Amino acid sequence: MTDRVYLDWNASAPLRPKARAAVLAMLERTGNPSSVHAEGRDVRQAIERARGEVAKLVGADAGSVIFTSGATEANALALSPGWVRSPGDGPFMRLLVSAVEHASVREGGRFDRGRVSQIPVDGRGVIELGALRERLAGPPALVSVMLANNETGVVQPICEVARIVHEAGGLLHVDAVQAPGRIGCDFNALDADLLTLSAHKIGGPRGAGALIRKAGLHLEDTLTRGGGQERGLRAGTENVPGIAGFGAAATEILAQSGQEAAHTRRLRTMLETGLRSVTPDIVFFGEEGERLPNTTCFSHPGLLAETAVIGFDLAGVAVSSGSACSSGKVQPSHVLAAMGVDPALARGAIRVSTGYSTKEADIERLLSAWTKLSESLLKGRKSIAA
Ligand code: PMP
Repeated sequence: MTDRVYLDWNASAPLRPKARAAVLAMLERTGNPSSVHAEGRDVRQAIERARGEVAKLVGADAGSVIFTSGATEANALALSPGWVRSPGDGPFMRLLVSAVEHASVREGGRFDRGRVSQIPVDGRGVIELGALRERLAGPPALVSVMLANNETGVVQPICEVARIVHEAGGLLHVDAVQAPGRIGCDFNALDADLLTLSAHKIGGPRGAGALIRKAGLHLEDTLTRGGGQERGLRAGTENVPGIAGFGAAATEILAQSGQEAAHTRRLRTMLETGLRSVTPDIVFFGEEGERLPNTTCFSHPGLLAETAVIGFDLAGVAVSSGSACSSGKVQPSHVLAAMGVDPALARGAIRVSTGYSTKEADIERLLSAWTKLSESLLKGRKSIAA
């Protein structure tokens, strides 16, 4: 699509050229990675190379990477009562998730719904550590807390969460899908037991992801049974092009060593200053705490997100609304609701997310679209107020 400005990187980042080349190269190759002949060994080698590259992105051992069809599947695999640290460990009977998790975590994976409970967040969108401590009293629990929120960009204090969870004998899963290249996501430094990644959020292809697991953790009941691929943890012939593209994207992120974060942070300052100068009553969600440098989630009294997203789209700018649309009804974001945002304000939530190839001119284009849109979208409100 020509003459479009894409500012929805948290939904899916554009494919990086090297990831594209890796995908295309593997589409040309024949062979099942489990076959012993030369063709099979060739594609197996590509998978193992990518495994090393993805592991390096988060400072983990290659052997700890389990490739999946994406983060949704990695989260489902992680949220299983059957993880054991040592023989004789009982199954985890409870799952605690933060109130701002992605739907694939909030649904509770393979835990019965009655065994899943939520840990609240404060007005900044940060998990309440006191509530976590309280809810951990009792039998050991599996806990899932995301590293950074996809809607607001709010970053969670994972190291402190890990300490609290481990002191209570629990296991910690971290959905780190939005973190690579934006904030630190070293597996050992975070002290997570399980960590989820997704290829298409980092410039790899859609349909590939990974679950990283700490050495010594075993899963007694896997999601898919069959050919024993991925060390018996995820049966099914591997998505070789997707995995190769994932590895190439991971390598690219490591090579740019912090430049993307600095670049997107500068653009965000430009964006937020510009938006505020056009509409001084604008609200930026989560700005009081630490946020991903590439993410802005905002609203304005009187704004309707559905209308604004269409308005931006017609102006050639792709952004996303902070509300989830399900069965034809627009639901206010559970993330903003958990932060205590007024539902009327939450209905206007717009998310802008950027990446390494976003330019200042793209932000200027959004700002000029906002200037026009805010005049017409907020006109009715002003006349009511007048
Ligand atoms: N977790 C988070 C935080 C996400 O943002 C997303 C994608 N929106 C997912 C999980 C699911 O990722 P995938 O598309 O790879 O299944």
